[in-house]
Amino acid sequence: MLRVERFINELMSSNCFIVWDDVALRCIIIDPASEKSLREIEFIEMHGLLVDYIILTHEHTDHSWGVNSLLEKYQTVQVVCSDFCKQSLSKESRAYFQLYYDDPNYDFCVARVDITIEELNWYLNWCGHVISFINTPGHSKGSVCFSIEEMLFGGDTLMPYKPFIKKKNGGSKEEFSDSLRKIQSIFKSNTIVYPGHGDVSKLKDCIYQ
Ligand SMILES: [Zn+2]
Repeated sequence: MLRVERFINELMSSNCFIVWDDVALRCIIIDPASEKSLREIEFIEMHGLLVDYIILTHEHTDHSWGVNSLLEKYQTVQVVCSDFCKQSLSKESRAYFQLYYDDPNYDFCVARVDITIEELNWYLNWCGHVISFINTPGHSKGSVCFSIEEMLFGGDTLMPYKPFIKKKNGGSKEEFSDSLRKIQSIFKSNTIVYPGHGDVSKLKDCIYQ
């Protein structure tokens, strides 16, 4: 059976989720963004889990700051994100740390991305489960949502409040509306969404045009 644990990241209270198969004892980590990933590592060790993938819903640093600490600890883990996310990761962090921590000397970039979602043809077979990705630009160009069984991971596209769309940085309200329409055509309104920020909610409570 698949189980999910939510961790609230240090950077901007975004959500990190660990999804694990409690028979195979394998897990994936979604959007880790606490610098040292201490609680996540403690959880993984406590349950004796093998880490297969880190999946990033998009390129913003408040969804990726914890990746390098996890790569140091779990060297065989593969990092997965969209191609655009991969291209943009290096350009993201300075703005975050200057804006929120007022530290012009701190910089961060995800050390490596191993697989892009495009290379996977939008599906990933993990431990007998199919992870199905959908390209959902709008909040950012590299944003994706993905489902694992009945669970829908929404990143900053699907949240229980209105996402921030910054035009300058690859955001687009038009693309965002198209992405929401695409999601609504695939998933039922009571699908459970695991959002980029905020509480786990139903899809119908995560649609903000
Ligand atoms: Zn974001």
